[in-house]
Amino acid sequence: MLPNFDKIASKICDCHAHFGRFRDDYYSPSQVVNWYAELGIDKVCIMHLGSSWPLETENEKQIVDSLPDERYVYNLWVTPEMYDLDPDLKRYDNLNYKVIKIHTYDRKDWHEMPHKIRGVIEVAVKKNIPVMFHTGGWMGSNAIQFYKFCREYPEVTFILAHGRPISQAITVLKGTKNTYVDSSFLPIESIKLLSNAGLSHKIIFGTDFPVMKTFWPEINLITWYKNHVIELIQEFGENEFMYWSHENFYKLIIRKN
Ligand SMILES: [Zn+2]
Repeated sequence: MLPNFDKIASKICDCHAHFGRFRDDYYSPSQVVNWYAELGIDKVCIMHLGSSWPLETENEKQIVDSLPDERYVYNLWVTPEMYDLDPDLKRYDNLNYKVIKIHTYDRKDWHEMPHKIRGVIEVAVKKNIPVMFHTGGWMGSNAIQFYKFCREYPEVTFILAHGRPISQAITVLKGTKNTYVDSSFLPIESIKLLSNAGLSHKIIFGTDFPVMKTFWPEINLITWYKNHVIELIQEFGENEFMYWSHENFYKLIIRKN
């Protein structure tokens, strides 16, 4: 019997979602809100896409305010300019963000400024919130690059988005207690490697929704989402999936369990 998505939807949490411009596509916040309303999942950790974001915080605040409180948690995608302008990121406090994202593929110059990455992590220390690193794509954003930060700040939770390359992500997970991988664009084979290494409890469910539509324009996003969850449950079981998508989300991002 196929797992029933609608039966479990109200407990599913997704730690990696977006709105904004991605390549030629624009995903408006209200469109994304509607899609998740149709899916009916519990919580969504959402961030704007890319460095093109305007720095007028009023505008950003309006968008964040338009996200329904009961479902959305905001993830602040930080650029080097945002850090330069305000190293404490105080001007973004009104967005009530609960995660900070650093994307060293989108902005390869981060790689030359580890002191600024540390500065951003210091903000996360003060706020007691997790830091999400994009991983993969080039040497400077491969998982192993973040090993030093994960070790230097054992009190901070780190999420290696996409867990790439998986062998390096496994090295970091094995060497630290405070590091997790999100499952967005993580192949089933990589999840099996994590499982076999005894690390499946270090997975947090994420999807990168809705940017898969840019890669695969022919898909229906709602159908894709449901099928993706069903595939994970068929491969790894409902208990395991719920641990990634519910327990770990509440533990790492909502911070209560
Ligand atoms: Zn993403």
